[in-house]
Amino acid sequence: TVRVRFAPSPTGSLHIGGAHTALFNWLWARHNGGRFVLRIEDTDRERSTQAFEETILDGMRWMGLDWDEGPDVGGAFGPYRQSERLDLYRSHAEELLNQGVAYEEDGAVLYRIPAGLRLGFEDRVYGHIEVDSAKASVNQDGSIKDIVILKRDGMPTYNYAVVVDDHTMGINWVIRGEDHVINTPKQLLLYRALGWEPPSFAHLPMILGKDKKKLSKRHGATSVFEYHDLGYLPDGVFNFLALLGWSPGEDQEILSREEAVTLFDLGRVTKRAAVFDLDKLNHVNQEHLKRMEPHRRLATIRPFWTELGLDPDRFEDVYLEKALTLLAGRGQTTRQLAEYTDYLLSFDAVTTRYEGGDLTEETRSRLRPFYDAWLTGCRPWEGETMEAFARTWSEEKGLSLKEIAMPLRWALTGRKVSPGVFEVAQLLGPEECRRRLEHYGL
Ligand code: GLU
Repeated sequence: TVRVRFAPSPTGSLHIGGAHTALFNWLWARHNGGRFVLRIEDTDRERSTQAFEETILDGMRWMGLDWDEGPDVGGAFGPYRQSERLDLYRSHAEELLNQGVAYEEDGAVLYRIPAGLRLGFEDRVYGHIEVDSAKASVNQDGSIKDIVILKRDGMPTYNYAVVVDDHTMGINWVIRGEDHVINTPKQLLLYRALGWEPPSFAHLPMILGKDKKKLSKRHGATSVFEYHDLGYLPDGVFNFLALLGWSPGEDQEILSREEAVTLFDLGRVTKRAAVFDLDKLNHVNQEHLKRMEPHRRLATIRPFWTELGLDPDRFEDVYLEKALTLLAGRGQTTRQLAEYTDYLLSFDAVTTRYEGGDLTEETRSRLRPFYDAWLTGCRPWEGETMEAFARTWSEEKGLSLKEIAMPLRWALTGRKVSPGVFEVAQLLGPEECRRRLEHYGL
């Protein structure tokens, strides 16, 4: 079985780059019916914290990237925190010392790099990569720099710990960022020294901002939780990140988790750096908002309404679900959708943010008879019936439908644009429509 791992250092929250790596590992595990292992690389004792570890786990949970083994759930290959595996690093270092291929220096243990070895591997994304052992680890002046495996404080270095862990945890695929290609030959040397079979490697293209610079704070939110606060859906972020450096082909862009799992293929990952395009994220997120199950969409939007000072609890769930369905094609984020539906939850939202046109006394007296007739006589209270009713009336009076519909839209929504005004009216119901029209003297 395929065994992959995501190995974050708990020195910050889960960033876009980390989430991307975690996602591709997860996809490869799920696609192959394999195991996804979470390992915490906390050997930097100064910068690692329990709180960061928890935010990383929370970030992964939010994205829906569940792991089969890890520090919280355990597993047969634990412990899953490097700080709890120090004996293991020590004993393998002793093995190398006994073989005479490692030596001690001021209490640190170093692996002596043999010259003249070719270190090659087949990267699933970048193809064949090969370096001479003399070039795998070099000082500034180009001379060979032996690899520190244990530091004076007894902590392992990254390259060494990763080899010991990947081997002892039975990891057979290492999928990580392209910035680690440079470390792979050093790790191959250590596999060789320890007499272990190396795993398969796949390095993932870097993620750049639109200006082609490495993604950073300058390009906007960097941690996945910020995307939640901004109003992005986990499914939207998941889908968007899956398309950074990979595509299922045939121009298919909007993918459910299940579709992504089925279609995912490391062989289709590109070498080219991927560009983080916020417009694309907005588009993908909007499509997921549209496709969401009404009750899930409601549960997602509810807290955003409350944040806006609206009171969704005054309404039945069916009403709220319909309100969201009516506007679902319009908002790109949950935050926008909550804002765009405000007038369906509150009349204050209409009056305090009125953006409609001027209603002159002349307009009012001309249209009032229609609104009266409509409110009292138009049944059933359904969009299509209402539209037919309005059409007949306007033809009789020599008015255009628009002349009736626009002021109605202004009074009901306070906006210049809205979904079909009779659909809005249907949802609001005759009582509420009457209240709003009366307020505006219609
Ligand atoms: N802790 C390392 C990192 O966060 C893991 C790299 C690897 O996957 O080997 O970059």
